[in-house]
Amino acid sequence: MSAFEAVIGLEVHAQLLTQTKLFCGCPNRFGAEPNTHVCPVCLGLPGSLPVINREAVRLALLAALALDCRLQPHSQFARKQYFYPDLPKGYQISQYEEPYCQKGKLLIEVDGGEREIGITRIHMEEDAGKSTHGVAGDSLVDLNRAGTPLIEIVSEPELRSSAEAAAYLRELRNILIFLGVNDGNLEEGSFRCDANVSIRPRGARELGTRTELKNLNSFRFVQRAIDEEIARQTAVVSGGGKVVQETRAFDPDSNTTRSLRSKEESHDYRYFPDPDLPPLVLSTERIEEAEQSLPELPRALRKRWLRDYELSEQACQTLSSHPGYARFFSTCIQLGAAPAKAANWILTEVLRGASQRGLDVDFLVTPAQVVDTLALVESGEISGKQAKELHAALEGSSRSAAELVSERGMRQVSDQGALQAAVDAVLARSQKQVEQYRSGKTGVLGYFVGQVMKETRGQANPKLVSQLLEQVLEGRQDD
Ligand code: ADP
Ligand code: MG
Ligand code: ZN
Repeated sequence: MSAFEAVIGLEVHAQLLTQTKLFCGCPNRFGAEPNTHVCPVCLGLPGSLPVINREAVRLALLAALALDCRLQPHSQFARKQYFYPDLPKGYQISQYEEPYCQKGKLLIEVDGGEREIGITRIHMEEDAGKSTHGVAGDSLVDLNRAGTPLIEIVSEPELRSSAEAAAYLRELRNILIFLGVNDGNLEEGSFRCDANVSIRPRGARELGTRTELKNLNSFRFVQRAIDEEIARQTAVVSGGGKVVQETRAFDPDSNTTRSLRSKEESHDYRYFPDPDLPPLVLSTERIEEAEQSLPELPRALRKRWLRDYELSEQACQTLSSHPGYARFFSTCIQLGAAPAKAANWILTEVLRGASQRGLDVDFLVTPAQVVDTLALVESGEISGKQAKELHAALEGSSRSAAELVSERGMRQVSDQGALQAAVDAVLARSQKQVEQYRSGKTGVLGYFVGQVMKETRGQANPKLVSQLLEQVLEGRQDD
């Protein structure tokens, strides 16, 4: 065990899924022609005035409630000043001394245990534009993103490993997706994370000097970058050196981090309250309205499913990882499916063909098709193997399970006479295995069943096949 312990705190920037930007009416949409979603306000032209987006406040409020934060009925926007070409006003409107909420928590599950991680604060702010460097020797600026509403969720320095950091991010991302607040896209940058990392002698109380890691646009990179940084700092300190407070960028190709710049301090930004914006007031009515619209969150769903249905932790985890999956599963149960069977079928068959994009999931089958398929297996009309074939045929089709079954003549053969012939044929050509069986190696029964299934092109009722085989092998004729 290392003599040092790691300390990690995360800052997450999540774009809010509003129609329009935070302080103007421009569309809040990714992927448009550069500089087409802009206006005097988000371009920072003189004389333009910002007006707060009500829907952005509603979404921010939902996040605060879901993370058990203490709301501040009055909060204030501030100007954070720095110069960069993608920041046309010369300042970013953010919240500083008076964020709209503080002191929340998030429960994470790691290695079967549960830990509570403190949330220091959440504040609202606007995003900057986007610079692209090195295009034919030039740098280009796209201001479509300038003014996009964000919440920044700051954790306490309470995470102790890269695995905990990843668990925290996954849980946070899921919650925001369930709330409809954020689409959780790390690659497109609508969910972004900076990781602050330090080490300290195991058992020490004081925090060590931290570095801030950027450019972590996948969960894998977050974990790798943190592990790399812990190793680097450990080597520095073990060699008698000191960690320098700085911002470092992760390079996934070399799996290393490199120094970007020395870390700025907050006084460098010359924050002051934005005189163009009145204080943000959260009325009791708005808070209650948001509380009532909170959906059942992933953790609560998992708890309920574990309690009420016989599902594995892993199944609950996967089915609660996206609201679309949870809805599909719940609909199957409402339509009368047995929960464990439905869960298993969704995990093994349905999700394989499903594609997820932000808040949407494209399923290739409907819950009704799944429920009907499972019912046909349950009643013995089709075999498990035929069910998979049926499922493949249902993908992308609007036909019902029953229609396809009769169209394809997919009935399970439960007719004794027909099966007896197949059983006899298989046994006749498997003398060696028959002897093995009779000398006590009854495990070869599975082999015979497999052969009969093959012989009947998967249409035989396997239960009946086993019975017939046993009758013949044990010399029992019909009793
Ligand atoms: P900023 O990075 O904007 O200066 P803060 O000082 O609020 O903001 O810190 C941001 C994050 O850094 C928080 O998530 C906090 O938990 C984390 N952090 C602060 N000090 C340390 C430390 N010594 N080691 C690891 N994380 C830290
Ligand atoms: Mg920071
Ligand atoms: Zn605008």
